[in-house]
Amino acid sequence: MENKTGCGCGCSTVPETEPVNAQSKEQLKENWYLPYMNKKTQGEAVEEKPSPVAVFYCAGASNVGQASMLASVQAANKAGYDKAALLCLASIPAGLKNIYNGAKNARGIVAVDGCPMQCSMKTLRKYELEPDKNIIITKDLSIKKDFDLNAAQDLNKISDHIVQAVNKVYNSVPAE
Ligand code: SF4
Repeated sequence: MENKTGCGCGCSTVPETEPVNAQSKEQLKENWYLPYMNKKTQGEAVEEKPSPVAVFYCAGASNVGQASMLASVQAANKAGYDKAALLCLASIPAGLKNIYNGAKNARGIVAVDGCPMQCSMKTLRKYELEPDKNIIITKDLSIKKDFDLNAAQDLNKISDHIVQAVNKVYNSVPAE
C-alpha cells in the first residue's frame, strides 16, 4: 500500500518540501466565513459549516483604535477562524447584505472598541445587531489613548482578552 505521508519510497520519512497537514498554514488562517456568507447571500451552493463568532473592531484613528484591528487579527489567528470570523464594520452602514447576514447568522458577536466612544458597539446597535460582548481597550485593559497611529501596544495582552471573549460567547451559544 502506498505510504501517503511518506516520501514515496515506502519509508515513513516526510520530505521537507511536503506539507505535513492537508491544509496549508494560509488555508488554516483564512477568514473563510466572509466569502462563505457572500456565496450564501448570492444563493450559491456552499458546504454548510457551523458559524463562528463574528468579531467587529472600530479600527479608529488612534493608538487604541489601530490596536483594536491588529489585536483582532491576532486573536482570530490564535482562536482559529472556525471560532472567530473578522467582519467589516464599515460595510454595515454601507448596506452590504453579505456582511449583515454574516453578523445575523453568526454564533454571537464580539465588538472591540478602542475607547469609551464605543463606535463599533453603537454602529452595530443602530442596525439592530446586538453584541454579546463589548471590549473597550482603554477601560478593560487600562491602556491610555493617544494619537500616535504607530504606537499600538500590548497587542498580545489585548488579543488574549479578545480570545477569552470569543471563547465565552462561542461556548455559551449552542451550535445550530
Ligand atoms: S471607539 Fe474610540 S478609537 Fe474607536 S473609532 Fe471610536 S473614537 Fe476612535
